[in-house]
Amino acid sequence: MNTWDPTRAYDVVVIGGGPAGATAADDLARAGRSVLLLDRAGRIKPCGGAIPPRLIKDFQIPDHLLVARARSARMVSPADVKVDIPIENGFVGMVDREFFDEWLRERAASHGAVRRTGTFERIEDTNDGMVVVHFRSRTDDGPREGLAASVRARCVIGADGARSEVARQRVPGAENMTCVFAYHEIVRAPAEPPAGYDGSRCDVYYRGELSPDFYGWVFPHGGTLSIGTGSADKGFSLRHATATLRQAAGLAGCETIRREGAPLPMKPLPRWDDGRAVVLAGDAAGVVAPASGEGIYYAMAGGRMAAEAALAFITTGDARALAQARKRFMKAHGRVFWVLGILQRFWYSSDKRRERFVSICKDRDVQQLTFESYMNKELVRKKPMAHVRIFFKDVAHLLGLARI
Ligand SMILES: Cc1cc2nc3c(=O)[nH]c(=O)nc-3n(C[C@H](O)[C@H](O)[C@H](O)COP(=O)(O)OP(=O)(O)OC[C@H]3O[C@@H](n4cnc5c(N)ncnc54)[C@H](O)[C@@H]3O)c2cc1C
Repeated sequence: MNTWDPTRAYDVVVIGGGPAGATAADDLARAGRSVLLLDRAGRIKPCGGAIPPRLIKDFQIPDHLLVARARSARMVSPADVKVDIPIENGFVGMVDREFFDEWLRERAASHGAVRRTGTFERIEDTNDGMVVVHFRSRTDDGPREGLAASVRARCVIGADGARSEVARQRVPGAENMTCVFAYHEIVRAPAEPPAGYDGSRCDVYYRGELSPDFYGWVFPHGGTLSIGTGSADKGFSLRHATATLRQAAGLAGCETIRREGAPLPMKPLPRWDDGRAVVLAGDAAGVVAPASGEGIYYAMAGGRMAAEAALAFITTGDARALAQARKRFMKAHGRVFWVLGILQRFWYSSDKRRERFVSICKDRDVQQLTFESYMNKELVRKKPMAHVRIFFKDVAHLLGLARI
């Protein structure tokens, strides 16, 4: 029975119903475990909504959730040099988070997860090996701030997003999470497209005036577009930069539907569990890829690994199993995060370097390797000579020996 019963104890309470939490809840429910999915709800996650084919395949995302398919990407340099990269043998999917996240939560419910709307407050340890999760429970006809409620569980997955309250209370080191702040505007697609506009292409702008340390983007979503930018520099005006980007892209006149922003973690936390009953997943654990800001795939992969770790903990009673979530994630993706971190720190640090970076992207080897890695989430190993060529070209660019 997957209706709310306040007296019932759960194997796992998952806090946060974004891609990480909904995936963890779904996997646990499918494994036959009792799971409560607690989500604050009421806000659409600000997000560009770009997802790679690996995600669509691994997490069985149906076609109807894809509001658009991007067939190419355009990199734009500070001097307005444009490099178009075709996406061979596939596409990048675009999802609308309002419907994507709700579909994921409903899928978890269809497999037996119990859904509850409410805001997490704190976790209390007990002497019998269980924990009590306290939250403010919301109903449509109840008070706005919700009613105090609690539920007992053996394990908790904290998937409550960047600057997670679960992480802050339970996991040492979480208070030092480094974040970029990302902001975007959802606008209506132009009735009369400006010159050069292509509704099946994602445009990425590398320009200091649009971001001193990240990039600006124009992502088409069928009837709408996400136009935005991000920066870790608190003094930098993301709104002003987005207005400049809209002007540059010929989209200043489009109707603005929403303006919104959110923090984007830039580094996985050093620990994801409390050694007792709690494990983190997704943005709460800090897993957004540096340089690209891609977080949905990593949230879902992390949610799956957190569910596996929780399952091992419940089965064996050994809380050390919770640490497996981070170990397995870093083994699978740590190297890519490390490479992307270096890439961002070096190439996004001045317009001179950004110009060179876009120039490097003209190279067919670079295009193929980076896109295949993005699409399939594996560093491509089958073309060793291409890696060697890229290495020498990279060094030439770093030393300024190659012409732009
Ligand atoms: C502007 C912007 C653009 C982006 N574009 C892309 C993109 O194009 N592609 C991509 O892959 N990634 C993108 N990202 C990153 C991506 O959105 C995140 O990495 C991803 O949503 C992380 O998923 P999550 O489930 O970990 O967290 P979230 O999606 O943030 O979900 C957290 C959930 O927890 C709930 N919650 C929070 N606090 C509580 C509480 N106290 N009690 C109960 N529930 C709570 C929230 O309501 C929410 O449902 C973008 C991010 C931003 C900000």
